[in-house]
Amino acid sequence: MVPVNEPLLDGNEKKYLVECIETGWISSEGPFVKRFEEGMAARMGRSQGIAVANGSVALDAAVAALQLGPGDAVVMPAFTIISCAAAIVRAGATPILVDSDPITFNMDVRQLREKVLKATRGNGPKPKAIMVAHIYGLPTEMDPVLEVAREFNLRVIEDAAEMHGQTYKGKPCGSFGDLSTFSFYPNKHVTTGEGGMILTDDAGLADRCRSLRNLFFDKERRYIHQEMGWNLRMSNIQAALGVAQLERLDAFVAKKRHIGHTYTNLLKGIPGIQLPLERTAYADNIYWVYPVVLGRDVSFDAVEAVKRLGAKKIGTRHFFWPMHLQPVFQKMGLFAGESHPVSEMLCQRGFYLPSGLALTDAQMQETAEAVKEVIR
Ligand SMILES: *Cc1c(COP(=O)(O)O)cnc(C)c1O
Repeated sequence: MVPVNEPLLDGNEKKYLVECIETGWISSEGPFVKRFEEGMAARMGRSQGIAVANGSVALDAAVAALQLGPGDAVVMPAFTIISCAAAIVRAGATPILVDSDPITFNMDVRQLREKVLKATRGNGPKPKAIMVAHIYGLPTEMDPVLEVAREFNLRVIEDAAEMHGQTYKGKPCGSFGDLSTFSFYPNKHVTTGEGGMILTDDAGLADRCRSLRNLFFDKERRYIHQEMGWNLRMSNIQAALGVAQLERLDAFVAKKRHIGHTYTNLLKGIPGIQLPLERTAYADNIYWVYPVVLGRDVSFDAVEAVKRLGAKKIGTRHFFWPMHLQPVFQKMGLFAGESHPVSEMLCQRGFYLPSGLALTDAQMQETAEAVKEVIR
């Protein structure tokens, strides 16, 4: 269970929610939806925003908007949330997995070109798109991704669900590629309870996303449908929260960065664990979560670490489980015989510390003490 990670009383959340109730605007037709879409688009340097029900369906809609399907392959990281691969597989397209960078956990872009080239020359589904997912706090290296996309004429979907307020070389995450997606789940930097958004600069794609969001109703004659869509609409109540939360994004990022520094200062020097990088050449870490990876010298794995910390009343969570090891995909015959050693190591050795916005310095100190005792 994830509670609201920060009291909602410090900003305009309550005021805007009351406005929804007093005006009677609660459905997706209400004015906050458009305001939230425009606010997100402006903040991320995009021209179009399409608010949807959550970050997972934002990916489904992005894949459907690009009309990816059987015979098409989408190159994506092995190490991410299942929503990425599920969107591709549900559309009938085929995911091609790339292993992770062991330090940033993002797709190892050095492997990307080779993967695309091999699939382009092979007999299987042909690469049509790259889906990147920025993991835990540092962005994927976008320049090499965009270069490969240009070279092979691939579309790019950017899953920026964990990256509100992050940048790559000074440019906002959520501004890269054909379509970018966000989540507003309560553990994300900006929350609407449940919610998501698609951003793009392409008016045609935006139009398709809006139709996909709303059952593909014909614009002239409602109840006639040229394609199948879904009901992915976000309510005005959710969007009201989103507008208020977005006003505070800079403060949230600053708090997350404070959490990151504080943990690193408390934990550095403990042998046997890898702490997250404070910055890379292209971005400062925004610590969506604070991830640690157990070194080879530590005799137990992340499941055991989570258990031992749980016994000390510290709630931690282990890392994502790589796509090629997912029973659901194995049963479908996907990824047979594949190995992605870095993501396999990460899922065995990685876990993240309590990282919610409401965290106090005292709680971080307690957590750090517990980690020291457990690792020793
Ligand atoms: C949270 C998350 C999602 C899914 O968002 P929901 O709103 O929970 O559906 C997708 N991708 C990444 C990388 C995420 O962290």
